[in-house]
Amino acid sequence: MTALVDACRHFATHVGLLADQLGAAELSDDDVDRVHSAVHQVFTAAGLAGALATGLRRHTGEQDCPHYNVLTDAEWAPLAEEGRHGRKAVYGCELQPGHAGAHAAHVQLLPGPDRFIWIRWDIRARELVTLPPCPAERADSDPDPRSPYGDEPAPCLLFEGHVGPHRY
Ligand SMILES: [Zn+2]
Ligand SMILES: [Zn+2]
Repeated sequence: MTALVDACRHFATHVGLLADQLGAAELSDDDVDRVHSAVHQVFTAAGLAGALATGLRRHTGEQDCPHYNVLTDAEWAPLAEEGRHGRKAVYGCELQPGHAGAHAAHVQLLPGPDRFIWIRWDIRARELVTLPPCPAERADSDPDPRSPYGDEPAPCLLFEGHVGPHRY
């Protein structure tokens, strides 16, 4: 275990040195794309290590669960082509703060028939799963004029059987 912890520290030192060098370098437009891609890989690798080992948390304010996760390039590749959504750098848990059980974030919507892909995790396990949407709809006598659903009742954005209140 000591060797693994030391390896993490070395990794952090290397990334810190690279950040110094990248910050001082003059970048062309092509360079910016290449650097962005390389830094994204570093971020994903470090995030994955954190997600699997201790969990990842950020400061989100009181209305959101502070846990988040990341996707690797290999995980994203089969989801990218037909999916409705672009890749995010981080996937924040969408459940109520302090909820019981695993954290969960919606990742992608694949067509034919609709498949809602979620990442679900706790401190020891992490998986991409297809979960049916929560069937709840907001009974709203005063619909939000900015809602993308118009006069339709807004559906809950979570998955069927989720803990905590619905999220519209
Ligand atoms: Zn959570
Ligand atoms: Zn719901």
